[in-house]
Amino acid sequence: MKIGFIGLGIMGKPMVKNLLKAGHELIVYDIAEENMKDVVEAGAVAAKNNKDVAEQSEVVITMVPNSPHVKEAILGENGVLEGAKEGLIIIDMSSIAPLASQEVEAACAKQGVKMIDAPVSGGEPGAINGTLSIMVGGDKDVFEQVKEDVLLKMGGSAVHCGDIGAGNTTKLANQIIVAVNIAAVAEAFTLAKKAGVDPELVFQAIRGGLAGSQVMEDKAPMMLKGNFAPGFRIDLHIKDLNNAIETGHGFGSALPLTAQLMEMMQTLRADGFGQEDHSSLARIYEKITGTSIAD
Ligand code: NAD
Repeated sequence: MKIGFIGLGIMGKPMVKNLLKAGHELIVYDIAEENMKDVVEAGAVAAKNNKDVAEQSEVVITMVPNSPHVKEAILGENGVLEGAKEGLIIIDMSSIAPLASQEVEAACAKQGVKMIDAPVSGGEPGAINGTLSIMVGGDKDVFEQVKEDVLLKMGGSAVHCGDIGAGNTTKLANQIIVAVNIAAVAEAFTLAKKAGVDPELVFQAIRGGLAGSQVMEDKAPMMLKGNFAPGFRIDLHIKDLNNAIETGHGFGSALPLTAQLMEMMQTLRADGFGQEDHSSLARIYEKITGTSIAD
């Protein structure tokens, strides 16, 4: 299949490589030209712009940071819609606001172009290993058309969650659970350290019990070493929590824990740690208590 891929950052590059391995033809574009080099060497063809990608593709995937970038890539000047033939399928895999997915899909539908939202969880390792968890919103028939040959070549699972935007609503739920869970681990380990119990031993003692989680497995070792290299950056998590708060308020849902986490992450950004992994939430507890989990 001829697949266009737009946005070749941390996630996009390995996803393209997995689609190439599956035997697809890839036409790629990124506004940062140097980001195309790696995947072109792996066999993808570089396009001139997003319109050019659409002109050559049956399916176009977007993997860019946030709602304005998706709007620019699809609806903007020299964007996907300018080059799209009727029947083109767009799969937006970026994590964006569900309302933005609905707006972009409505504009696409006017031109006979189909769009689904399909954000992912699993991070860079999941993108490299082709084991991403993919959460999908939109027309179920379109989802079925691309599930086996496209989505499951990049992911270990792809679940249809509802109408357009439902994939991103699911992703927001995911991001709330991850943020609160990281903070809970950091708070608990700091208490243990203050009370004179080695946090490494706390981790070993509780990881198999009810408090254990994938977040604890992935992030506790980072906190114990004081290694906050990304991974998933604080700046991107702030973007997701912002989308969660806006969406929640729009539907009359209060998010007190999310609001608290937002302020903690904003503090980290103000202190210059926006580019660090979200496990650097441990720094907040260091700031409050004067005790580092890692020392
Ligand atoms: P990134 O910043 O590394 O890459 C995004 C790329 O999009 C950049 O190369 C940028 O130049 C390009 N881009 C932006 N606007 C564009 C446009 N109009 N046209 C063409 N290219 C454009 O981000 P990432 O980490 O790869 O994340 C992408 C999305 O996936 C985000 O929504 C993020 O929240 C989500 N996500 C990331 C992770 C992770 O661990 N990094 C995990 C799950 C989901």
